Amino acid sequence: MADIIQLLPDHVANQIAAGEVVQRPASVVKELLENAIDAGSDSIKLIIKDAGKTLVQVIDNGKGMSTTDARLSFERHATSKIRNAEDLFQLHTKGFRGEALASIAAIAHVELKTKQPHDDVGNTIVMEGSKVTNQDVVVTPQGTSVSVKNLFFNIPARRNFLKSDNVELRHIIDEFHRVALAHPGIGFVFYNNGNEAFNLPISNYRQRIVNIFGTKTNEKLVPVEEETEVLKISGFVGKPEFAKKTRGEQYFFVNDRFIKSAYLNHAIASAYDGLLKNGTHASYFLNLTVDPQTIDINIHPTKTEIKFDDEHTLYAILRSAVKHSLGQFNIAPVLDFERDANLDTPYELKKESARASTPTIEVDRSFNPFQDEAPVKQRAVSYKKEPTESWESLYVGLESKGTKTQQDFSEVHFETEEATVSMFDKDIEKTHTTYQLHNKYIVSTIKSGMLVIDQHRAHQRILYEDYLQHLTIKGALSQQLLFPLDLHFSNQEIAVIIQLKEDLEHTGFVFSNVKEESIEIIGVPVGVPESEVSIILEQLISDVENEVPDSNFSATDLLAKSMAKSLAIKTGQSLQKDEQEHLVNKLFACKEPNVSPTNRTTFVTMSVDELDKKFI
Ligand code: ADP
Ligand code: MG
Repeated sequence: MADIIQLLPDHVANQIAAGEVVQRPASVVKELLENAIDAGSDSIKLIIKDAGKTLVQVIDNGKGMSTTDARLSFERHATSKIRNAEDLFQLHTKGFRGEALASIAAIAHVELKTKQPHDDVGNTIVMEGSKVTNQDVVVTPQGTSVSVKNLFFNIPARRNFLKSDNVELRHIIDEFHRVALAHPGIGFVFYNNGNEAFNLPISNYRQRIVNIFGTKTNEKLVPVEEETEVLKISGFVGKPEFAKKTRGEQYFFVNDRFIKSAYLNHAIASAYDGLLKNGTHASYFLNLTVDPQTIDINIHPTKTEIKFDDEHTLYAILRSAVKHSLGQFNIAPVLDFERDANLDTPYELKKESARASTPTIEVDRSFNPFQDEAPVKQRAVSYKKEPTESWESLYVGLESKGTKTQQDFSEVHFETEEATVSMFDKDIEKTHTTYQLHNKYIVSTIKSGMLVIDQHRAHQRILYEDYLQHLTIKGALSQQLLFPLDLHFSNQEIAVIIQLKEDLEHTGFVFSNVKEESIEIIGVPVGVPESEVSIILEQLISDVENEVPDSNFSATDLLAKSMAKSLAIKTGQSLQKDEQEHLVNKLFACKEPNVSPTNRTTFVTMSVDELDKKFI
């Protein structure tokens, strides 16, 4: 048989490798910014056009490259940053693979201009699909400028795969934030489509955070400082009352490199134990400095993960440091403050970290399938208003979601009279009965058998159709607020709100003022509790930014979905009898009762036949 193995031509091999490094315009941004930092710059400009699809350019004032280096920089595995394998364990630079420029040049049009400080003129090189099309001397300031145009011009499939400009720009801004947060000692300017989006002068860390996320951020920050033999922690955590519904502002840097770590994130979350409202996430901006020998970052060019030699110790120290800070600033109850004196004895701490992650299981002990009345637990701690028949009654639960203590308290059974009513005393004539199962499902009888409804999804469907109708047909009613609501957002977030302002107004929102970093609201849709407004808007912004790619984007639809998601009664919420029935009736009055707005099943049925089969 003839030989069949062939070496791939260079340009094909380069394109394949490039796919690993460059997945989207944001990857180019990351690589170019990191090169500029490695070059020792203290002033870096980022220029973006059309979410990076047309242009990504980074201009720095770093050390530049010689004529030979400029040419070599585009070769695969050409790097000035490591010389041998041992250097990998002493990394002080961001790059080390020598792959980025080669990869980018394989799939875009690249123009490099660079000059070293002591030279009079610099060099320019133009590359197209891994080929040099021009090389010349050029007059250029000290430092390096790399422009990347027409990304994926030779891989149409990749280009078509890119998401909308909104989404790609979001990714670019995320990368920019990460790099800028890790390097407050470097000035950054970011131009987006000709407008200055960020101008971050050299500053301290706190100012850098504030310059990125808005002046209001300042009062939300609590400093964290800790130094032990194994690591140094510095940075800020957010006060619990400013916790967000989305995980946006959570940043870990290890030796100035942004990383993601679910494990360390858990350490922080556990330090906030009992301080956060359900479903909210604290912000943090933390820098860990560890000996480069104790970490392994040589995993994957685009991954932001890292391996630590001793994760357990890190976990414990981090948790303790954050707790300490929250305690010092009188945010955490002081009694709760356990600063371990044995911080440097990891063995002890390992036990502590194990304890921190013990899962808790919630059981609805008061559930009684034979009991027609609302469960005892609601009566024991009666904080509800008289149940009303109105549609709005479904929201009542929202306000009285019940704090943790209320719920715990109610687990201590108070035997009320209702609780001991025998099942035979019930009104057995009643045919349409509902029960709530595990504060999650509504079980009801139907002619053919039984019906189980997911309360959260069902309510989402109901609200969604309701909002859609308001948005498209009739103007919604607005309820005026006694005091205007002043909400703070970053300027990109404000931009999203402005984009949706008109639609929001159709649902009943009334804006009295929209400024650079804040909005003032004087009216909200009827039935929307004031306390939920910021959560709804946050959710909405995050939905717009992460817009599902295949859905044909419609602001109205997204808004209706997003509001329905935020306002629907949650799993875990107990409902009064009349609320349960109302939910069932409303669901079946919907146009598409069987699926939630995100296409998930809202209810299942089981016929008597099916049940019979189970009893054979
Ligand atoms: P790496 O950063 O992993 O070394 P790159 O492909 O990103 O690989 O860059 C290759 C080389 O080009 C770098 O090692 C560096 O010597 C040089 N280089 C790249 N960008 C710059 C820059 N902005 N300023 C100075 N030198 C640069
Ligand atoms: Mg690099």
